[in-house]
Amino acid sequence: MSTIEEFIRSEIEGKVLRLVREIEELYEEIVEDWSTKLSVSKPAVLVTLQEVDECNEGSACVRDVDPYCKSITGQYVPDSQLIVLNYRSTLDVLLHLFLHHVYAQQIGLERYKQIRTIENVRLPWSLRPTEIRILNMAKRLYNVLISQRAGKTWSDHIKVRIRELDDLIHKITNTIHNYALSTMPNLQMRQIAYKVHMRRDRRSDE
Ligand SMILES: [Zn+2]
Repeated sequence: MSTIEEFIRSEIEGKVLRLVREIEELYEEIVEDWSTKLSVSKPAVLVTLQEVDECNEGSACVRDVDPYCKSITGQYVPDSQLIVLNYRSTLDVLLHLFLHHVYAQQIGLERYKQIRTIENVRLPWSLRPTEIRILNMAKRLYNVLISQRAGKTWSDHIKVRIRELDDLIHKITNTIHNYALSTMPNLQMRQIAYKVHMRRDRRSDE
């Protein structure tokens, strides 16, 4: 087997994706506990290394600029009852997305989707009735759901894995960068040209 195949197998499949899956399972445990407490169906959880937030949820043509939507580093996908979550999210973000699921169950999936489509196109994040209702639900349910057990799972198990993943990503990205340069020598020249171009752009803004 070639060295690069070994690298993919051990570093990416063996370490990165294993850690992502472990974080996902821990978030799923928390969500299962919350679902039991509130007697709702359990949503699925998908953890990603990609940047994800609520700023352009469900509408490709609208880009929200509200700072709050940026801080919700995930999205709730009602059709598949799925919480998509960036791996570096906090329990507060998980709770927020879980409450989207609870709210969708309360008012019915079709009605939830209709309301969200209109809200997302017409209103910035902080004026969306669903978001305001969810902030209120989070305030009411915070002490019930963010239990000592959930907090402990996050600090003792999830946080440790997030750090491990961060170190690993940093190491792997450097290796891949050097590998890319060795296979595409002109890439370095293009990067330098790009940096000079960006500096010039910044100067013209001043
Ligand atoms: Zn939200």
